[in-house]
Amino acid sequence: MRIVNNFWNFIFIVAEVLLVAFVAYHLSATYYSIDVFYCVPILHAARLSSIRALRRSDTQVPTIIGIFVGTIWTAGEFMAAYPDYPWSALILNSFARSVTFTVIGRVMAKVWREREFSRKDALTELANRLEFTDRFAIEQSRSERSGKPYSVLFMDIDQFKLLNDEQGHHVGDDALKALSAILIKNSRKGDVAARFGGDEFALLCPETDDHSCEMLANRILEAAKSEFISKSWPIALSVGWVTGAGLNRSIEELLRVADGKMYSMKKEARIQLSMGW
Ligand code: GH3
Ligand code: MG
Repeated sequence: MRIVNNFWNFIFIVAEVLLVAFVAYHLSATYYSIDVFYCVPILHAARLSSIRALRRSDTQVPTIIGIFVGTIWTAGEFMAAYPDYPWSALILNSFARSVTFTVIGRVMAKVWREREFSRKDALTELANRLEFTDRFAIEQSRSERSGKPYSVLFMDIDQFKLLNDEQGHHVGDDALKALSAILIKNSRKGDVAARFGGDEFALLCPETDDHSCEMLANRILEAAKSEFISKSWPIALSVGWVTGAGLNRSIEELLRVADGKMYSMKKEARIQLSMGW
């Protein structure tokens, strides 16, 4: 699916370049210039690269499109002025424009990427703590107006260090991604799943009361358990949750309560483990 999307996006960008080149060629004998529109495919390529930048090949998209645009622009001018356009100008202009567009594309991709990942966890692509806290504040205000409750789940993986030590850091990363997928699969569209760092996760569920939250927590626990067992990972999940309404308790206080409940579950699991249950 991703390869298909990449392919069509790439075709679309190439079509944009060719369209601008076609119109520019036909306007070349007039006073009108649309050369500035060559920036559109460059920005499009930069955006595409910033969204998919976790793969190395995607970071090359602005360079490829930058060189393509520089070459097509100059080739169009060359054809329109042929045979008066000097070969040296063809080479020099192609080079200068390719370099300029590549730099613009790469800088824009970097700016967009950094903006994107200032609120996202790079490994799992879930929201990070900053994004979570902001969305939490918005939900509290909404709940204050509507009177509807919201719930927060706080989760931590048990024995995660052991998994890293026994099966390697990359397997630990796979476990973090698998848990993220479980959270996304078991939550609704308006919920906010976040990774706080390490093996700590949180899920904000708007318009969810304590009973619904408990059912959701059990569903997540079941899904995580079967995933961990199927992969032979020696880990488990501990979950704690809290339900609030409006602005009567601060975000920090609510998270502390959920964290405390999660820790009780973790302690219980440790006792069971030490007794060999
Ligand atoms: P507990 O049962 O008490 O929760 O302990 P634990 O072994 O799960 O370890 P703890 O929660 O205290 O610490 C989390 C560990 O996760 C510490 C660190 O080595 C590891 N870790 C943090 N970030 C990453 C990451 O991005 N990838 C991987 N693979 N490991 C990470
Ligand atoms: Mg842990």
